[in-house]
Amino acid sequence: MADVLSEVRVNPIACSGHGVCAELLPELISLDEWGYPVIAGDGVIPARLARTARRAVTDCPALALLLAPRGYSEEAQRLAGLRGGTLGT
Ligand code: SF4
Repeated sequence: MADVLSEVRVNPIACSGHGVCAELLPELISLDEWGYPVIAGDGVIPARLARTARRAVTDCPALALLLAPRGYSEEAQRLAGLRGGTLGT
């Protein structure tokens, strides 16, 4: 699997601010002052964090965290009916 080409994304509508993602993937996700995730940089997942990123996605209680192919646009996510999980693989 070409994990290095994936990005971590958050569906802001589904996210309920549990913060599990920031605990599991602090290298890429921090929390804002209200407890909602902020993705570092462009969200591209280095190969060394691929397994941890997949765990963060599966452990998100709101299914709001997802892996998307690199460059997957916000509009494409909206049209795909983004619901969390892994897209495009
Ligand atoms: S674990 Fe899921 S619901 Fe909680 S802050 Fe992260 S993305 Fe949002």
